[in-house]
Amino acid sequence: MSKPTLGIIGGGQLGGLLSEAAKKIEIKTVVLSDDKDAPAKHFADIFIYGSYNDQEVIKKFINIVDLVTFEFENIPFNVLKKINLEKAVLPKPEINKLIQNRLTEKDFLNKYNIQTTKYALIKDAEDIKLNENLIPGFLKTCTFGYDGKGQYKLNNIDDLNNNIDFTKEYILEKLINLKKEISVIITRFGHQKYEIYEPIENIHEDQILKNSKIPAEISEQIIKKSKNWSMTISEELDYIGTLCVEFFIDKNDNLYVNEIAPRVHNSGHLTINSHNISQFENHIRAVCGLEKIETKKLYNAKMFNLIGDNISNFRGKTFKNNEFFYDYLKTEIRDKRKMGHLTIIEK
Ligand code: ADP
Ligand code: MG
Repeated sequence: MSKPTLGIIGGGQLGGLLSEAAKKIEIKTVVLSDDKDAPAKHFADIFIYGSYNDQEVIKKFINIVDLVTFEFENIPFNVLKKINLEKAVLPKPEINKLIQNRLTEKDFLNKYNIQTTKYALIKDAEDIKLNENLIPGFLKTCTFGYDGKGQYKLNNIDDLNNNIDFTKEYILEKLINLKKEISVIITRFGHQKYEIYEPIENIHEDQILKNSKIPAEISEQIIKKSKNWSMTISEELDYIGTLCVEFFIDKNDNLYVNEIAPRVHNSGHLTINSHNISQFENHIRAVCGLEKIETKKLYNAKMFNLIGDNISNFRGKTFKNNEFFYDYLKTEIRDKRKMGHLTIIEK
């Protein structure tokens, strides 16, 4: 059987890094993006620019690919469902629908006795007052948030300002007294067939990931529990491909799932250099039905996100042989925008 051509919806850095990984194993990629300057344009074999709601654009995309995956979860469910009628979309569009809403996502987790922070659906200011027990907490839009966007930290009930747009639905989450944040990246190939990376320790600043490292400095018990929960999640979702589970660990060493990303994840960038098979290559192998290769760690590693202006300090620099610099080639430097990353492996 000849190798399939993979369609990727979304043209950000994750789409770019997926395309690079695909090239390595001779899989052709077609990236579809609604941003004409999307970074993945530089890495995909074919780049299609257009709106996700434009039928002609979608038709053109479908016609030249064998199957479809995506690099961000905020694609309208109806778009994925429609594509899925003609070419398989993996992971399944229903998974996206469940996870792209913070409320249904948390309900799903609790159904399997996976601990999350306490939460409530918020439709108006009155609902917040009724859930005062969840303050201090975070008010987050139920859908379409990322990198801390659409989030308000409420230290007390008076922090509630009048600028909150209640035409949208929100979730109020109780603040966790954080000791650490970790993530587990898992690639599921089929029933009980996984490749799972060891937990990655993550540091956030202003709700944006700043750096990641392996090994995470956590107990054996948390390693086991976080991996087990990640396996349960991917199995119960009947997931195909790479998925990331973000966790909170509180000051008393309790573990909570923060959120699930139904895609490759920023914290897994270090796997490109630390492992024999990266999260990107595993994703492509799983969705394209290629061989599952035992994934092994080669080196401990640290990854630093280069956000906003900071990228300028790295462009044109020479690096040591254990340092790997990735420039997402975004046309415009913007504050709080992920522009590239640097991974340092321990040799
Ligand atoms: P996003 O979808 O933008 O990644 P998250 O829900 O993961 O949003 O929140 C981003 C970051 O904000 C988290 O990684 C964490 O550092 C902080 N945060 C979010 N919710 C909570 C919470 N309930 N308690 C403590 N910290 C939180
Ligand atoms: Mg997050």
